[in-house]
Amino acid sequence: DISERKQIEEQIRRKNEDLEQLKIGLEKMVRDRMAELEKANKQLIRLNQIKSDFISIVSHELRTPLTSIKSFAEIMLDDLGKHDQETQRRYLSIINSESDRLSRLISDILDLQKIDSGKIDWHDEMINVVEVVRRAVDTFSGAFVEKGLSLSFESAGDCMMTEAAPDRIFQVVANLLSNGLKFTEHGGVEVNIRLVEAPYEGSAEKFIRISVRDTGTGIPQEELSRIFERFYQIDQSQGRKHEGAGLGLSISKDIIDHYRGRITVESVPGSGSIFCVLLPEQEQPRKKLGEVLVELGMLTETELVSALEKQS
Ligand code: ADP
Repeated sequence: DISERKQIEEQIRRKNEDLEQLKIGLEKMVRDRMAELEKANKQLIRLNQIKSDFISIVSHELRTPLTSIKSFAEIMLDDLGKHDQETQRRYLSIINSESDRLSRLISDILDLQKIDSGKIDWHDEMINVVEVVRRAVDTFSGAFVEKGLSLSFESAGDCMMTEAAPDRIFQVVANLLSNGLKFTEHGGVEVNIRLVEAPYEGSAEKFIRISVRDTGTGIPQEELSRIFERFYQIDQSQGRKHEGAGLGLSISKDIIDHYRGRITVESVPGSGSIFCVLLPEQEQPRKKLGEVLVELGMLTETELVSALEKQS
């Protein structure tokens, strides 16, 4: 029966077509999976590279201060009593500052680990950013004088509030100041704070803008985005002549990102750099209450200002 045979042939043809489609689908799936695996593999290789970089940088950064602590301690032990007081003081102060360097590195690495694992305790509270920044500037003033550099501080107001951990904001400003000090040989650093309205697209609120401008070496354009990466240092190839492990800016960025802020940099190589930190301003609840009282006519503007001044 020809028609039956034709029907069967037709069925076989359709089945073959279905099989072909299935085969094409399967091949595509295999190709996709292969591409995913290749991507995952590349990521693993990159992570492995990061891990080895991490180990080599950290061990180098740990070994350098340790070597100098050990050698100065040995010199003092070998010639105990033979050195005059001034020489002993010099050796001890090197041991002291190298120990500080070690403990800074260890706390940076611990911070990094805590931030990465989400185990950081932020201890947020309402803080006056002006006070925190002023405290950081005061802490550094001696070191700037010692290097013959100027350090100025200017604020457009006495009180700019945000909710954050004071120690973390201090850490960010201290890191910017320490970089300013490290990478500037002439001139100095200017710190400035003011409020800015909607500083970038999509932001509606007011932000506190802290800027740290230096007249130092500056940063080449192509390095600007990289300096916020972990362990990145511009003079890497020249054998790390400055102290530091390239962690300060990446930790600072993590902190500022956590507070929905921004940290940016602009620079002219040879002339200097300006780092800007933006933090969302949050008005003090008591200031808000005061404003309501003024609106209700229960307090005059002058009375509110003098009450707030008394409180702060
Ligand atoms: P480090 O501890 O090495 O200073 P950071 O993360 O704070 O680490 O900075 C990363 C790198 O960015 C520095 O090593 C330096 O090369 C560059 N850098 C940071 N701040 C400045 C600055 N103010 N002027 C010039 N270069 C800077």
